[in-house]
Amino acid sequence: MSLTQISENPFLIVISAPSGGGKSTILERVLNDFDNIRYSISSTTRKPRGDEVDGVDYFFLDNAEFEAKIEENEFLEYANVFGNYYGTSRKFIQSSFDEGKFVIMDIDVQGCLKLELTECPLVKIFLLPPNAEELESRLRKRGTDSREVIEKRLNTARQELELIDHYDYLVVNDDLEKAVYAVKNIIWAEMHKVSRYNDIYHSFYNPK
Ligand code: 5GP
Repeated sequence: MSLTQISENPFLIVISAPSGGGKSTILERVLNDFDNIRYSISSTTRKPRGDEVDGVDYFFLDNAEFEAKIEENEFLEYANVFGNYYGTSRKFIQSSFDEGKFVIMDIDVQGCLKLELTECPLVKIFLLPPNAEELESRLRKRGTDSREVIEKRLNTARQELELIDHYDYLVVNDDLEKAVYAVKNIIWAEMHKVSRYNDIYHSFYNPK
């Protein structure tokens, strides 16, 4: 029999990065390659940007809707980022785990610290451009933000980097292909830890 008949214990893959870190491309590439990983669509009170679609990029809610969900304990974690609420659905994570699926999520450092207080098994990856100068130049080149917003994002990046020790892995994105390769390999190796499998000995000798 093959090892694939031995059931695995899924975990959450947390990806955090300052804006301009190349996060969305990397996430897309990972999701294309792993059919056992699902993307956790967050809820937010921020308004949709550009061609963002409700239920695909985010679930867009108003403040009252979001606060009602907080009351109902529907979020595994939530945070206020740049003046808007962002939160992760507890139900989605639970049902994915029940189906043996891994979950990848794009959340900020505050959210990651909150997840550390839960029982969820986590693999925490921080993505960074090679240096502060490059971060600033990527933000300016995007042309999507005002000068004030860029300043705010740079300050947040500085504060977040001070908490880097909470993460398991750092991937420096100076070359997109290499960064994608690194993230995929981290996930692949984490999936193969002995501790991720249930009852290997008995499953091997007494397959169902
Ligand atoms: P943006 O508005 O640019 O899509 O996201 C702003 C920030 O919110 C990013 O740092 C992103 O990682 C974070 N974020 C997105 N969804 C969540 C979430 O569900 N929880 C938390 N804590 N942060 C989130």
